[in-house]
Amino acid sequence: MAQIKLSNLRHSYHPDPKGDADYALKKIDLTWEDGGAYALLGPSGCGKSTLLNIISGLLVPSEGKILFDDQDVTTLPPAKRNIAQVFQFPVIYDTMTVYDNLAFPLRNRGRDEDIIKKRVTGIAEMLEVTDMLNVRAANLSPDNKQKISMGRGLVREDVNVVMFDEPLTVIDPHLKWKLRSKLKELHQRVKATMIYVTHDQTEALTFADKVVVMQDGEIVQMGTPVELFERPTHTFVGHFIGSPGMNVLPCDVKEGAAFFGDAQVALEGPAQGVANGAAEIGIRPEFVTIEKSGAGVSAQVRKVSDVGRHKVVEAIAHNQRIHAILEGEAPSAGEAVTLSFKQSQTRLYKDGWLASTPGEAA
Ligand code: ADP
Ligand code: MG
Repeated sequence: MAQIKLSNLRHSYHPDPKGDADYALKKIDLTWEDGGAYALLGPSGCGKSTLLNIISGLLVPSEGKILFDDQDVTTLPPAKRNIAQVFQFPVIYDTMTVYDNLAFPLRNRGRDEDIIKKRVTGIAEMLEVTDMLNVRAANLSPDNKQKISMGRGLVREDVNVVMFDEPLTVIDPHLKWKLRSKLKELHQRVKATMIYVTHDQTEALTFADKVVVMQDGEIVQMGTPVELFERPTHTFVGHFIGSPGMNVLPCDVKEGAAFFGDAQVALEGPAQGVANGAAEIGIRPEFVTIEKSGAGVSAQVRKVSDVGRHKVVEAIAHNQRIHAILEGEAPSAGEAVTLSFKQSQTRLYKDGWLASTPGEAA
């Protein structure tokens, strides 16, 4: 097992890349600590698989280095990197039994049959496929084939990292939930570094201790689920995580104070590097409260949705849509209301990036 360091990585699929737009990965500097449970989260096409394939060695980056501990592995082939990769679609041998499929990565490395038996039965138990061990893989359902594929990734005890590239895509929704919690449990037992790639925030937040959020070939934030929720360093993270995502409202900054329309909005603390001019206020729906009157931002309720545990209110103020999440009673559509934002959770963003710091307001 090892710490994995990506240093000054860039990758282009173009033979002769010109500008940034020709790069699938623009500039990546990132360290994955040994034993961590990570998710790599971002929309389709942002470069997740490219990054994973560079770590595993299926792809050599156009620029930069990959270090496993202090060993430079940038040009080493996958077989020399001691990693396991599970793909979106199952990779198994149809003609072999489930047992032989799971044993394959170990036999390949010349392990003793009694050790193999122990590992295979252990993994089979964790994945709840013990009763299928003697079945030929060809006869399995797609769900079970993917489980076996994941088992092949997890069966070796000596890998530097196990990487999962959107492994639950082919899995039935109810089984998805189960496998996700299973993976978390497996990480706690196996203790290998795991990188779980997904475009689904729920999958990322339930599996990972740390989530790496990617957008358009770049990493916008790495943090714990709580950090990503509470202090998105970029409005993209604010939008992408949360349901509904963070409200991002255009504002005017005058001598360090933020105005939304004519109302001053108290920020969590001082604005940094934005004394005057256009910027954005970021506030999560969870921290917006609605009153019938009083001080705050005047708005009109457009829609109220009951989503079970709480209600989501959509209001309009200065032509902007603002979401609020309410636990108790909600106003009705058409009503005039006043919105207020919890000050400690009200952030300022400039050109998408966080520009306020917590503390005494100026
Ligand atoms: P993700 O896994 O996040 O969906 P990918 O890493 O697959 O994203 O793709 C990132 C970008 O690189 C996309 O614009 C995609 O079209 C492009 N790309 C991926 N693989 C190749 C390839 N083999 N040849 C050319 N372009 C590719
Ligand atoms: Mg992909």
